[in-house]
Amino acid sequence: MASNEKNVLVVNCGSSSVKFAIVNPVDGKVSVSGIAEALNLEDARISWAFDGQDKTEQSLGAGADHAKAIDFVVETILAGHKELLDSLVAVGHRIVSGGDLYSQPTLVDDSVEAGIEKCIPFAPLHNPAHLQGIRAGRKVFPNIPHVCVFDTAFHQTMPEHAFRFAIPEKYYTENRIRRYGAHGTSHYYVAGEACRELGGDPDNFNVITCHLGNGASISAVKNGKCIDTSMGLTPLDGLMMGTRSGSIDPSVIFFLCDNLGLTAQEVCKILNKESGLLGISCKTSDFRGITEGKLAGDEKCTLAFDMFCYRLAKFIGSYFVPLGHVDAIVFTGGIGENSFRMRERVLELLAEPFGIRIDREKNEKALVYKGGRGLISTPESSCKVTVIPTNEELIIARLAGEFAK
Ligand code: AMP
Repeated sequence: MASNEKNVLVVNCGSSSVKFAIVNPVDGKVSVSGIAEALNLEDARISWAFDGQDKTEQSLGAGADHAKAIDFVVETILAGHKELLDSLVAVGHRIVSGGDLYSQPTLVDDSVEAGIEKCIPFAPLHNPAHLQGIRAGRKVFPNIPHVCVFDTAFHQTMPEHAFRFAIPEKYYTENRIRRYGAHGTSHYYVAGEACRELGGDPDNFNVITCHLGNGASISAVKNGKCIDTSMGLTPLDGLMMGTRSGSIDPSVIFFLCDNLGLTAQEVCKILNKESGLLGISCKTSDFRGITEGKLAGDEKCTLAFDMFCYRLAKFIGSYFVPLGHVDAIVFTGGIGENSFRMRERVLELLAEPFGIRIDREKNEKALVYKGGRGLISTPESSCKVTVIPTNEELIIARLAGEFAK
């Protein structure tokens, strides 16, 4: 490593995990990355790998928490790597919800910690974990900037008619119940990359970004600004996902409570953990498994595949309304980047109404070159369609790196 190299530690605390990576914000090189899992449980453990080396895994001790995991990263994993520790110029923390308090990456101080605490109702599993990560991080790295990069920030430019729910006003004014969106860092990144790659004018470029992974969301982005998105108060709304239902008639919830006697918490678990691809296929939440099942003639997997594509195509179609004209559609995320069959089906559904034309050969190649990117539409297509691998760690590193002195 060059002695003047500058790196950012990217920290992503989930409810029972901490993902971490040391990323060079200029070239995206990852020197070390890893994950601590099963935190607060009996078998809390951590695994990591330095660039190009084999993975190491170790127990963290029963009940180890987020703070213990972050201490372990610094005191054990990085102990013999002083040059790497010295190269750190900032810590970037991924934060699931900043509600409507934050529309930009923000330097952490005590008031920002209080703001994240205020947003706990919108991300009850994640924001408390983020706070633990921030507090532990500030202790071990007191002399470099800690920067919060909010998943919700990119969506703060939505107009009120897009972010309000049609419920009595007081629930918005008193309780802040509204659409916040998620995956903002990814939507921001691929929208910018699409404009750059396709030679668009940033002040006149409309794009629909589809982030399709275990969680899935779609955004309408006009001249670099988000004007609508599919996730709502929480990441349960919108597209069908691995285990999440996406949008459903709210009456389903009352039906389950009133007629089957389920509690609100039980319904919450059903809609978040037992629905989506898993609920329909009765087999798996993994899109690879769904595709294999469909190819083998499994009817439930075929239905799950069809529903996923149909609902996505309808969402894409609906975003032609706020955008007026669409210059590009981008696919990203594990499913968006890798499933040429999903892309083919979705684009077939959009062909007649919107004049979108897919180049089948290019579309399939994007699978062959896994992690590949590039245009998959024909020159005749009414708008360009492209595959762009997302890289949330790199964006967090870049945004946090901008705060380094
Ligand atoms: P992510 O949450 O972005 O990591 O995406 C995870 C999802 O991507 C899972 O549903 C995977 O099954 C799906 N995925 C990954 N690779 C492929 C592939 N080659 N074909 C289809 N789906 C894939």
